[in-house]
Amino acid sequence: MTVRELSELRRIVDGAIFLPEDLGYDEVRRVWNADVDRRPLFVARPDTVGDVVAVVEFSARRGIPLAVRGGGHSHAGFGTADDAAVLDLRSLSGVRVDPVNREMVAGGGAVWGAVDAATQAHHLAVTGADAPQVGVGGALLGGGFGWLHRLAGLTCDSLLEADVVTANGDLVTASPEQEPELFWALRGGGGNFGVVTRTRFRLHPVRELVGGTLLYPWGRGRSVLTRYQELCDSAPDELALRVTLTTAPTAGHIPAELRGQPAISVGMAAFGPPGRLETLKREFRMCGPAAVDTVRPLTYAQLQQPPYRQPGRLRADGHSSFFARLDEQTIDVLLAVAEGAPSPQTMLQVQHLGGAISRLGAADTAFSFRHATHLVACNVLAVRDATSIPLRSWTMAAARVVRRHELGGPYVNFVNGGEPAEELRAAYAPVTYRRLAQIKADYDPDNLFRFNVNIAVS
Ligand SMILES: Cc1cc2nc3c(=O)[nH]c(=O)nc-3n(C[C@H](O)[C@H](O)[C@H](O)COP(=O)(O)OP(=O)(O)OC[C@H]3O[C@@H](n4cnc5c(N)ncnc54)[C@H](O)[C@@H]3O)c2cc1C
Repeated sequence: MTVRELSELRRIVDGAIFLPEDLGYDEVRRVWNADVDRRPLFVARPDTVGDVVAVVEFSARRGIPLAVRGGGHSHAGFGTADDAAVLDLRSLSGVRVDPVNREMVAGGGAVWGAVDAATQAHHLAVTGADAPQVGVGGALLGGGFGWLHRLAGLTCDSLLEADVVTANGDLVTASPEQEPELFWALRGGGGNFGVVTRTRFRLHPVRELVGGTLLYPWGRGRSVLTRYQELCDSAPDELALRVTLTTAPTAGHIPAELRGQPAISVGMAAFGPPGRLETLKREFRMCGPAAVDTVRPLTYAQLQQPPYRQPGRLRADGHSSFFARLDEQTIDVLLAVAEGAPSPQTMLQVQHLGGAISRLGAADTAFSFRHATHLVACNVLAVRDATSIPLRSWTMAAARVVRRHELGGPYVNFVNGGEPAEELRAAYAPVTYRRLAQIKADYDPDNLFRFNVNIAVS
């Protein structure tokens, strides 16, 4: 970029602009995944929607691709890119709740921690990621799973409208009535279509709940997964279950013989009075006594702070896919994959889907796996300085094995960015992909927004 172009950028944008020679550039080019080390041309932190429009127009005019960053938590590091412009939306992160109409308005850079705090103050909530720094924008655009998804659907299922700055710099509102095709695409189609600067969501009442984790030694894996599947077969919408194959933490409340050892945890939440979960816990007794049992009455905000999650930046890679009912053979495959994990932070997680997710039709939103029973995420994570641990080779091996048993995938929000194009295409049903390609051609024909599960212009 020339000095003249640079001074024009600084003149038209009120927010901060960071260039490679600026103090702070190394900080702002970073994203959550510590394996991502990219050098953008500049990082802009818009103060206003007008700033967003200015950066979009500036980049589009010069043919500079634009990476849009919400919470910066995609494994693929889509929120930063070499030789591109970065639009970091963190200053547009306000959250406002209307408790009377049970609605919320959030800025394009809002994160789930802020949303949960604001909505729970009124005993309301919307399905969202269970990590406070994850962006609402990214989660929404890929679909959005969370503890509430069986009761309230995906994050995108509660979207009422969104303001979007498109590639030509127009600010439009997408809703069922206005720009309906764009509104359809925003619900699962990823960040392909523009910069989402404001969202309005329907909220759901969430008051009483019981939740927590049962932790078992690794040897119980097969019987826990079998019981999990049996319970999923008849679970009401109010019940959310997930099983994680991982390494037990070394915290004081973990029995000494289990600390740092392979283990299997059953996360559960029952929305409603406590009695229901007591029954459920009894069901798991046939797997033997849990080494740790944290199940108790909780607030939704407490449920959203997972006890064993490591805060801060991590090295990350992953593979994800959607599954039908788990049979015996599939259970053995999942156990074998998890057993080979190269790092103690690795998690192979199986989440129960269905419920409200499955009650919308395949063509209602761009999200393509409403018929799936489980989401399986093989997330290989490692602390930042564990640079000798080969994450990608495990992910690729896991993908090769798991693929023979899956229904399809990947999940848009769990890609690692290294997948070949045809693999990413499988994130959508063919008919959905064709519709997305047409919408991409209408709203971003030059592919300004390409740091995502990129839809090829038709
Ligand atoms: C610790 C952790 C926990 C997670 N938990 C869950 C979970 O419970 N459920 C779940 O579904 N997913 C979960 N995820 C995955 C998460 O939803 C995705 O990684 C998501 O893409 C992150 O969004 P972000 O805005 O933080 O990321 P970013 O990297 O900033 O953005 C991701 C993508 O979305 C686009 N984007 C983001 N905001 C906007 C915007 N406002 N306008 C236009 N494009 C935008 C970006 O351009 C990029 O393509 C988790 C991830 C991590 C690391």
